Amino acid sequence: ALATNADYGGAKSDAQGDYRPGTPKPVKGALVALVRNEDLYGMRMAVRELEDRWNHKYNYPYIFLNDQPFTEKFMDGIRDLTKASVQFGTLEPGTWGYPEWIDQEKAKQERETASYIKGHSESYRFMCRFQSGFVYKHPLLAGLDYYWRIEPDVHYYCDIDYDPFLYMKSNGLKYGWNIAPSEYEPTVRTLWNTTQAFMAQHADLVPKHNMIDWVRDSNGQYTRCHFWSNFEIVDLSFYRSAEYEAYFNFLDRAGGFFYERWGDAPIHSLAVAMFLKKSDIHYFDDIGYYHPAMSHCPAGSKERGKCVCDPKEGWADGFSCAKLWRQVS
Ligand code: GDP
Ligand code: MN
Repeated sequence: ALATNADYGGAKSDAQGDYRPGTPKPVKGALVALVRNEDLYGMRMAVRELEDRWNHKYNYPYIFLNDQPFTEKFMDGIRDLTKASVQFGTLEPGTWGYPEWIDQEKAKQERETASYIKGHSESYRFMCRFQSGFVYKHPLLAGLDYYWRIEPDVHYYCDIDYDPFLYMKSNGLKYGWNIAPSEYEPTVRTLWNTTQAFMAQHADLVPKHNMIDWVRDSNGQYTRCHFWSNFEIVDLSFYRSAEYEAYFNFLDRAGGFFYERWGDAPIHSLAVAMFLKKSDIHYFDDIGYYHPAMSHCPAGSKERGKCVCDPKEGWADGFSCAKLWRQVS
């Protein structure tokens, strides 16, 4: 049998913490995951760590979304870990699957011949399209101003002793990130050309002062730099803006979610680079984080017992996309 609330979150000695469960927070924020029933134990691990490191004090609500109905076992297994409110929802019609203009035969050919990671997967493409253009429109997120995306199988290495949502709001920040690698080229073969076509057709939507030089090198080529969207804290008015909507629709029409395997991470990132300026964007380099294949350990964390990771694991210094981030203004 699964443990009860009292065995975990309820047993924390700091009792109420900063904000009480179920009461309004200073920011309309939530922790949001799209997840499958079979990811229950990976999700429990992530939620348990996030609670222990942070949310047992702040009690921000959780929202879990799924293309399939959640099982009782999944819902119990999550509710069991937190005193914060937890909501579960399924996806709206039309937000998962193919739009009618996609040539499904052509999409199938790509899946059958692709040799890159997740290249054979149809559901992975539905997921990337959903995270790119629909998650922030889900009815359960309607009242939210900010979301913090979470995923199964991630780790939070350090105590987080402030409210990142409030930090975003107080500083007028639109996008927060933590890890920024370079995307694998075969998955985004025409994404840059398509994005350039968008910028040419919609020049009025693209401000002059932006972060485009983070994704465009001195030869006008795509650096493939992107923020890993499995960790992102976002002012949702950014995704709900007319310019983001126009960009998503342009990409969706072009079909690269299915004829290639465009990820939501490069798409979110290209939108950030096009539409925002550096002061709108925050590098949460104080948040220790692991997602399978890559991690970030804050270099400056000298406080005893605060982090469990090796600061040499701070990927950022060895990585051109973080270096480039620092250089671009
Ligand atoms: P990766 O991080 O790119 O390796 O992709 P993941 O497999 O971690 O998927 C990203 C997120 O989407 C995770 O939270 C997954 O649980 C979720 N996800 C991926 N595919 C599906 C799916 O078919 N259905 C649902 N409901 N969630 C999915
Ligand atoms: Mn993942």
